[in-house]
Amino acid sequence: MNLAIFTGRPAFPSPLYVGAPIVEAATRRRFNNYMAGVFERNYFTNNGPLVQELERKIAALHGVKYCAAVCNATIAQILLLKALDLKGEIILPSFTFIATAHACLWQNLTPVFCDISPTTLMIDPEKAEALITPRTSAILGVHLFGNVCDAPALAALAQKRHLKLLFDAGHAFACSLGDRSVGGFGNVEFLSFHATKIFGTFEGGATLTNDAELDARIKFLRNFGFKDYDDVEYMGLNGKMTEASAAMGLAALPEVSRRIERCQRTYGLFRERLNGLPGIRLHPVGEKGRGNFQYIVMQIDEKEFGVSRKVVYRVLWKENVMGRRYFYPGCHGMAFYRAAYPTPPGRLPVTDAVSERILCLPSNLKNPDRDVARIVGVLRAIHQNAKEVKQWAVQNP
Ligand SMILES: *Cc1c(COP(=O)(O)O)cnc(C)c1O
Repeated sequence: MNLAIFTGRPAFPSPLYVGAPIVEAATRRRFNNYMAGVFERNYFTNNGPLVQELERKIAALHGVKYCAAVCNATIAQILLLKALDLKGEIILPSFTFIATAHACLWQNLTPVFCDISPTTLMIDPEKAEALITPRTSAILGVHLFGNVCDAPALAALAQKRHLKLLFDAGHAFACSLGDRSVGGFGNVEFLSFHATKIFGTFEGGATLTNDAELDARIKFLRNFGFKDYDDVEYMGLNGKMTEASAAMGLAALPEVSRRIERCQRTYGLFRERLNGLPGIRLHPVGEKGRGNFQYIVMQIDEKEFGVSRKVVYRVLWKENVMGRRYFYPGCHGMAFYRAAYPTPPGRLPVTDAVSERILCLPSNLKNPDRDVARIVGVLRAIHQNAKEVKQWAVQNP
C-alpha cells in the first residue's frame, strides 16, 4: 500500500500549500522597475501615484466608478461598515473566513449567521429573509471559491426591506455573474489582495462602489479621518496601502488572466482525474459567469468514499499535501463565537453538514499534470484501502 502513513514516504518531498500563486519572472521584473521609481520619488505611502494608478486599473477591470485601496480586506470591511454608519444586526453567512464576522464586531454590529445553499455553498437569500428583524441594518453576502453569490435575489430583498447590501469579494477577483462583474453589486463590495489570493499585493485590499459619496468617506476614514492637513472630520484609522504593495499589484495585474487560465487548466485536470472516484464531488466554478478557479474545492461523502473528510485530510497532510478545510467549522462553530454569540444547535444545518465534508486542495502547482495525477493517486489509494486507513486513524488519534 503506497500511502505515507504505512511507508513513511510522502508523495511530495516538500509541502504543497493552498494559496499563493507562483509569482512570474515578468512580474518580479516589473515589480523591481516600479520600486526603482518609488525610491527615485522617495514617496512611500499616503495615497501615492502607484496606489492611485492601481485604483484606476482595478476599478476599470471590475467596471465600477470608484476603488479605494487599503492595507487589507479586513480593514476595508471595517471602513465601509463605518462609512455606512451601520447599527444593530447584520445578516451574513457563517460559512466564510472569520474576518467577515470579526469586522462586523469592530463596528459593534451583531452578527446574525445565515445558512447557505447546498448547491452554491453561498448565502441562501430565502433563509436570509427569514432572519430580518426591526434591528437589521444590512445583508453581507460573500462570494466564495471564485463564484458569485445570488446577488440579484439579495438585491431584490435588500430593496424590499430597505437594507444596505454589501459583498465580501475576497475570493472573487475578476469574477462575474453572467456579464455583470463583481464590484457593482449592492452598495459596495470589497476585495482582498492578501498574498494567498489569485491577485496579491503581499497584504492589501480595496473597496469597489459606484457611490461617489461613500467612496469619498472611505478615503477619509482610511487616512485617520483627515479632511485637511490639520482638520479631522471623522473617526478614522490607518488603512493606507503602501507604494510597495501597489507596485506589486501593478506588476501582477498583466498576469491575472494568464493566472486564471492556468488555474482553470489545473481545475480541469482535477475534474478529469477525479472522474469515476466515488464519493468525491468537485465543486463547480464559473458555471454562471466568469470564475477565477483559484480554489479546488471538493466535498467528500464518507458513505460513498469509504473514509471521512476528517481522515482524508490527515492522510493528505502526511503526504505533504496541505489541504485546508475552508470553512470548517463555520464562524458560528469557532470558540469565540460559540461563547459570545451562541447559535442554537441545528440552526445552520447545511453549514454544519458541508463543513464536515469540505476540502480545498492546492491549485498553485509547479507541474500540474504530474502533481494532480499524484494527488488524485493518493485519494484513490485511500479509497481502495479504506479499511486499513480507518484502522490507522483509530490507532493514531
Ligand atoms: C482573505 C479573505 C478575507 C480577509 O482578507 P485580508 O486581506 O487577509 O484581511 C476576508 N474574506 C474572505 C472571503 C477572504 O477570502
